[in-house]
Amino acid sequence: MGIKTVYEDCDILVVGGGMGGTGAAYEARYWGRDLKIVIAEKANIDRSGAVAQGLYAINCYMGTQWDENNPEDHVRYARNDLMGLVREDLAFDMARHVDSAVHKFEEWGLPFMKSAETGRYLREGKWQIMIHGESYKPIVANAARNSADKIYNRIMVTHLLMDESKDNRVAGAVGFNCRTGDFHVFRAKAVVVAAGGASHIFKPRSVGEGMGRTWYAPWSSGSAYALALQAGAKMTQMENRIVLARFKDGYGPVGAYFLHLKTYTQNAYGNEYETTWYEDTKAMVGEYIDHQPTPTCLRNHAFVKEVAAGRGPIHMVTKEAFQDPHLEEVGWENFLGMTVSQAVVWASQDIDPKYINPELTTSEPYVMGSHATCSGAWCSGPEDLSPDEYQWGYNRMMTVDGLFGAGDAVGGTAHAFSSGSFTEGRLAAKAAVKYIKDLRNEKINVSDKQINDFKETVYQPMENYAIGRNEIVGGTVSPSYLLPIQGLQRLEKVMDEYVGGISVNYMTNDKLLERGIELLDIMEEDFEHIGAEDLHQLMRAWELKHRLLTSQSVAQHTLFREETRWPGYYYRGDHMKLDDENWHCLTLSRRDPESGEWAMEKAPVYHIVD
Ligand SMILES: Cc1cc2nc3c(=O)[nH]c(=O)nc-3n(C[C@H](O)[C@H](O)[C@H](O)COP(=O)(O)OP(=O)(O)OC[C@H]3O[C@@H](n4cnc5c(N)ncnc54)[C@H](O)[C@@H]3O)c2cc1C
Repeated sequence: MGIKTVYEDCDILVVGGGMGGTGAAYEARYWGRDLKIVIAEKANIDRSGAVAQGLYAINCYMGTQWDENNPEDHVRYARNDLMGLVREDLAFDMARHVDSAVHKFEEWGLPFMKSAETGRYLREGKWQIMIHGESYKPIVANAARNSADKIYNRIMVTHLLMDESKDNRVAGAVGFNCRTGDFHVFRAKAVVVAAGGASHIFKPRSVGEGMGRTWYAPWSSGSAYALALQAGAKMTQMENRIVLARFKDGYGPVGAYFLHLKTYTQNAYGNEYETTWYEDTKAMVGEYIDHQPTPTCLRNHAFVKEVAAGRGPIHMVTKEAFQDPHLEEVGWENFLGMTVSQAVVWASQDIDPKYINPELTTSEPYVMGSHATCSGAWCSGPEDLSPDEYQWGYNRMMTVDGLFGAGDAVGGTAHAFSSGSFTEGRLAAKAAVKYIKDLRNEKINVSDKQINDFKETVYQPMENYAIGRNEIVGGTVSPSYLLPIQGLQRLEKVMDEYVGGISVNYMTNDKLLERGIELLDIMEEDFEHIGAEDLHQLMRAWELKHRLLTSQSVAQHTLFREETRWPGYYYRGDHMKLDDENWHCLTLSRRDPESGEWAMEKAPVYHIVD
């Protein structure tokens, strides 16, 4: 094969330079002055990941210096929002360190809004502080750049390398440069995977000219989950997908609207509707509906039911708040700081929120571990806090030796958001440095065969295209390959119809899931025939394969949990109630990398905070 191979030997490889990855690089340098630290990033770290466009609020800040909140309060909040199920040790660990990360952001030049009266950070809500955050990502990228020995931008990491001298130990990663086409081999003693969450695994609401627009970043391709799964790492809570109520068509954020502008929702006839569904929800989930604040999924549930009852669309009442010029300015700035497209959509549809209450919609589901849900890898917790079942070595290490996670990659730590993901990167890197120091002179061993086998696999979609293009029968149709976009649409359709997407109103059951899993398995065979006409399509091909693995994991977990724990995120039609007696637990899975077989189990939820 005439493709150049570039080798890089390092101590710590960070896969993905988003919020978690930049935090990892920064902290790895602090503890590992003499270590070689490398980042491999699919895009360019200056504008990559979910924070690429900027943010208007940092959603996780305790404010312990002013006695605003304590880490215990945040654990209670996340636990409540997730209907009882989080990894409280990991959540507490993140919360006790997050403020220091936020203070660093300010030191590095991120502009914070301050209260004129108190001089403190201006609060949008109990946990959120407001920033002029268009430059958020370049600022944290700069900290990573000053810390890492080398940053490889435009590298799509496709697989992790495994050590051949010790079972179940990671030894680096491979991928390709999306611009030059070079094959990259990173041999590393420890790897921190921080490659973000997963959008575009369920059919999105945006189709036709809007295709590609999603709420979660469209480039979040589930790589964090797929890389871990391919290496045989255990996953947790992968069924806990998230559905967001957002402004229609642009998926614009609502946090600042609810919390700062004090806008509220009503149905098409101008009526409040959440209380209409109180009894219905109580029958499904019991006393959880009485918790304060109302868990996000239950508010979604009322939205979904109200629309299904024929009283949609749901509107956000903006007309009152927008009469105040200051709030009007905040309303628009909020979009300009993080979701410009929502302002554009409103302009193009003649919606001025001062005079028209805009529509909201519920999104297609996404998978992530850092926002308001907690899917991801099953990671070891901190030594001082974690019960035995949650602790087998180093903080944030997965069940594969030397493989660490941060941000969306880690399961169980909901409501970490941007600041918490950066903090998790720091915690993971600190532990990775310790892991490397404990290894002393022990070497990792990666054979040429392992590398060459991956090289052949990685470029196979280009080979498929080169051969199959001779058979093109019309336009782009060839009998011997599928294009990545065709594969993506097939995947989204199956996930949508069988695993609880928008077209079935988030409903699924055991029969649908079993059939969906069969169809996903067939797809796995078919995706061996993906054809990539250029390097960009090769990236698309690997994103698709990562999305498929993530989807298989979501489907397996959804089948395993026989209850409806989060109505409003999804429903198990055959088990329409929350069942604390049998399912007040975390779900774990492991996919055998050799056979592709899935093994499922339950893990206890320990409430370490009252
Ligand atoms: C629409 C939206 C609004 C949000 N609003 C807020 C908010 O207001 N406040 C707040 O605090 N948080 C907010 N968040 C949450 C926050 O952005 C995430 O919690 C955080 O970015 C997650 O960090 P991460 O490192 O896991 O993922 P990311 O920051 O997404 O980083 C993942 C990185 O991995 C790279 N990558 C992916 N695949 C590969 C691969 N195969 N090889 C190499 N690199 C790869 C990506 O390019 C990216 O750079 C929001 C998120 C979204 C999507």
